[in-house]
Amino acid sequence: MDNCVFCKIIAGEIPSRKVYENEEIVVFEDIEPITRIHLLCVPKEHYKTIAELNEFRAETLGRAFYTLGKVLPSLGLQDGYRIVINQGEQAGQTVPHLHLHILGGEKLGWGK
Ligand code: 5GP
Ligand code: ZN
Repeated sequence: MDNCVFCKIIAGEIPSRKVYENEEIVVFEDIEPITRIHLLCVPKEHYKTIAELNEFRAETLGRAFYTLGKVLPSLGLQDGYRIVINQGEQAGQTVPHLHLHILGGEKLGWGK
């Protein structure tokens, strides 16, 4: 989609520090990390929230969790991490292309 920063990263038009990629998803470092390790896992197809899931997108997202479970421990997250999806502006979503935040590399608190 035009004007989507994550679509541009996926297309290679904006540089990013990629740590994993396959046909369906890309995982790269957040440009403004809020934890010692802060990764973003982004499906390559553009849509905004889980309200727009269809069967294909849901399967891709499910496989993304499966893949992350295998890959993340080898990326410095072996002691635990948190996966967050901000859905909509009130929840703090600033990029309208669905993405999972992967937060870790340190002890995490809990709260809103
Ligand atoms: P949201 O607030 O939509 O849940 O998260 C968007 C995230 O994307 C933010 O944590 C922000 O730092 C990150 N971000 C925004 N623009 C870029 C960029 O150009 N490159 C990278 N690597 N991360 C970005
Ligand atoms: Zn996009």
